[in-house]
Amino acid sequence: MIICEEKECFGCAVCHDICPVGAIRMSDTTGFWRPLVDTDKCINCCQCKAACPSLMHNIRRDIPSRTHSTTCFAGWSNENKLHFDATSGGIASELAREVIRRKGIVAGVIFDGDRRIARHTVIENVEELNKIAKSKYVLSNKSDIYKSVKEGIRVGRVVLYIGTGCEINAMYHYLAIVKADLKNFYTIDLLCRGGASSKCLREHTDFVSRKKPISKVAFRGGRYDCMYTVYDQKNHLVYRSPQYEDSYFKLFMRHVLFQERCFQCPFVGTERNGDITLGDFWGLDKDVLPKNNMKGTNLIIVNSDKGRHMMNTVKNNITVFERTMDEAIMGNETLQMPTPKENEYDELWRWLRNGDFKTAVKSVYGISEWRDYIRFKFYTIRHITKENIMAILKNLRNQPRGGGKIQ
Ligand SMILES: Cc1cc2nc3c(=O)[nH]c(=O)nc-3n(C[C@H](O)[C@H](O)[C@H](O)COP(=O)(O)OP(=O)(O)OC[C@H]3O[C@@H](n4cnc5c(N)ncnc54)[C@H](O)[C@@H]3O)c2cc1C
Ligand code: SF4
Ligand code: SF4
Ligand code: SF4
Repeated sequence: MIICEEKECFGCAVCHDICPVGAIRMSDTTGFWRPLVDTDKCINCCQCKAACPSLMHNIRRDIPSRTHSTTCFAGWSNENKLHFDATSGGIASELAREVIRRKGIVAGVIFDGDRRIARHTVIENVEELNKIAKSKYVLSNKSDIYKSVKEGIRVGRVVLYIGTGCEINAMYHYLAIVKADLKNFYTIDLLCRGGASSKCLREHTDFVSRKKPISKVAFRGGRYDCMYTVYDQKNHLVYRSPQYEDSYFKLFMRHVLFQERCFQCPFVGTERNGDITLGDFWGLDKDVLPKNNMKGTNLIIVNSDKGRHMMNTVKNNITVFERTMDEAIMGNETLQMPTPKENEYDELWRWLRNGDFKTAVKSVYGISEWRDYIRFKFYTIRHITKENIMAILKNLRNQPRGGGKIQ
């Protein structure tokens, strides 16, 4: 049974969470998270079709109490660690921490090292904030997140949901169907150029990590900014490569790993659907930045009264200054139009549908994943040698004069 056309599907998993008999499983074997219906369990109630956002006559669901923004803000967290660990300004972590401090819960995306996938999950401790910090440049698995958010609302907690435009839309859609009370429900939508294939990320991570147990994959923020970085379970570096050298990151930046739906994304433009919109403030006039701000700046758009309230709760922990929407639009294509589909997209996906990431990138781009791996090994040898020499020099410098032992 097909719920909606493959190229219209967002991979949102609303159908999964709404099915009354658990007949739907989300699978990414063909590249993206898609529903698979178990016909033995299915009772043909059609609730999945009725709930599917992509089959709605009017796909976009607006946020309650929308206010139209004519200005926006540039900003960042004043706390060095939060800012350093984040993709851009760390405002998402500031807002999430405030909700947790008020005994609320936050639904965000973590990297699940065992399954090598990004996954939406609920956190309720400040110690877990670093798990959701940083954009994972891949579509997340959203199975069960709708039920968790509904339950949080039911028991009276404040709930913050963070996701891309289509994810926010899907959540509002689900909560309307189950008639949840939205009084204590808040959203942050992230500017998004496209959701990439989880299958490609998993296969590439398997290859460059040589299938070692890993804890996470990161792309931006922290010590290895703008690098595809894989860590083991002790948080040691397993692999890292700059964005235009690593095969996965390079193809992500060329927009060819996105699901087809993204090329007609209904959630682009300045009419946003979260209470607050966060992105990178590309195009910000550099002269307005303090000299020492090297860690990234958020674009912040406040879209509703709830958004304004959220910003007020963190105002003493962040630095913000008002900018024009024109400046934000100029620097960020997501505020203008959907990402255009690249010429080689269909050919690459013919390979990817029938085979693995390694063979597809080799066949279409002549790129070898081995090159990524070997480049990293050379880096490690150079790095280790340099670190060893530095350690020896430091040791020598710390020796007592004459090289003798201290008695
Ligand atoms: C797939 C994707 C594409 C993006 N594309 C753009 C873009 O084109 N232009 C732009 O300006 N900004 C883009 N962003 C947003 C940007 O990378 C930052 O997330 C945003 O600026 C917030 O930064 P931050 O420092 O406040 O928080 P961050 O450290 O980035 O954390 C923000 C939140 O992102 C959530 N998150 C992490 N990974 C995912 C995921 N895979 N799916 C959904 N949510 C996730 C986490 O729950 C976290 O709370 C994109 C983000 C994602 C996830
Ligand atoms: S028709 Fe009903 S039972 Fe069958 S998969 Fe859809 S929601 Fe589940
Ligand atoms: S509900 Fe979401 S995942 Fe399910 S078919 Fe529709 S768009 Fe796809
Ligand atoms: S580009 Fe649009 S459809 Fe694609 S993941 Fe982002 S918000 Fe969703």
